[in-house]
Amino acid sequence: MQNLPEIDNLIKLISKLPGLGPKSAKRIILKMINNRQEILRPLANNLSDVFKNIERCKICGTLKSNNNPCNNCEDKNKKFSKICVVENISDQWAIESSSIYQGYYHILGGTISDSTNGNNRENLLINSLIERIKNGNIDEVILATSATIEGQTTAFYIQDSLKNTNVKISKLAQGLPVGGEIETSDDGTLISAFKNRRDL
Ligand SMILES: [Zn+2]
Repeated sequence: MQNLPEIDNLIKLISKLPGLGPKSAKRIILKMINNRQEILRPLANNLSDVFKNIERCKICGTLKSNNNPCNNCEDKNKKFSKICVVENISDQWAIESSSIYQGYYHILGGTISDSTNGNNRENLLINSLIERIKNGNIDEVILATSATIEGQTTAFYIQDSLKNTNVKISKLAQGLPVGGEIETSDDGTLISAFKNRRDL
């Protein structure tokens, strides 16, 4: 290939994205370069905006804009009484689009057994979850971790961590296949899993 370090670096970076390898990275890059004004320039600006302005909330783990309070956990009106605990932001998005649940979210950012999480309890925002329950008029915590061993171990760990809060804890049950992930479940499965959640 031609010696263009900018392109080589971009291929390496895009290849790291989920579902993409060097081949599809090259196709994407060519598409962008062939559409400089319509795609490349706005994409570059947009990526820069996201880098500067969007980050994970340090309290609830969801995405928030640096310029505004987090609308998931800094809600002055305390309009919900439930917190749904999920592993990833993509799980929150999947549950939101199913419209089965109205309430706050708490995004762990992984599972207790992720080796990349050095200090798991801190990284998974579990102390922060306890604080939210104590301060937020919360009457139910719904554990919506995946039906994988890691997800269930994490749910058990959180259940144990919350035992002194006296909050009702429930867990998604029927509907989710064993090994099933929230993110990839269809709306029908999620709706059934929420409706049939059981108290712990
Ligand atoms: Zn937040």
